[in-house]
Amino acid sequence: MKISWNEFVEQCKNCHACPLSETRKNVVVYRGSVPAPIMFVGEGPGATEDEQGLPFVGQAGRLLQLLLDAQGFDMKDFHIANVVKCRPPENRVPTETEASACKPLLATQILITKPKIIVLLGKTAYTLFTGDKSAKMTEIRGRFIEKNGYLIMPTFHPAYILRNNNERVKLWQDIDIVRRKAVEMGLMDPLNTEPDMPTERPSSK
Ligand code: SF4
Repeated sequence: MKISWNEFVEQCKNCHACPLSETRKNVVVYRGSVPAPIMFVGEGPGATEDEQGLPFVGQAGRLLQLLLDAQGFDMKDFHIANVVKCRPPENRVPTETEASACKPLLATQILITKPKIIVLLGKTAYTLFTGDKSAKMTEIRGRFIEKNGYLIMPTFHPAYILRNNNERVKLWQDIDIVRRKAVEMGLMDPLNTEPDMPTERPSSK
């Protein structure tokens, strides 16, 4: 059955398919555009995201946005979501059961958003999304995997980069690869000049 984007968002807001619904303040569905050529998927909302009902708006989200802005990503180019739409208490990792309960919603979200490229932010998102538990992020990051007609790119979660700033260049390089691929596929406009990696640290508030 085809549903509209607004109907989908309402469905998410009314979802009680897993126990995370009992402790959430808000269901965190997305930010960015619909449809969008590039989708970023993290593991789940944190405290700031739960408060605001938007994904990746805390310090890690601001770091991601800093890098996206510097790489010339416009709002129309991306859609950001998570594997689970409600905050796991104490920011714990979502369980496989919670991710499975939320999977039909993410599948519908992908169908409506129609991305060509899906970027998985962090090992947890990668594992919950693909079911592959054995891969090491250092070995799989920065390379596209073709699956079900999508180009999937695993990379580091920006929260990991906040804790390990010396690794920032790797996330930057991976986003650069995504941007170049998107340009090659005619999904984004080329940049006039090569971007420089921002080095500032986003504020914690
Ligand atoms: S995490 Fe997903 S499945 Fe669980 S209650 Fe929230 S929207 Fe529903």
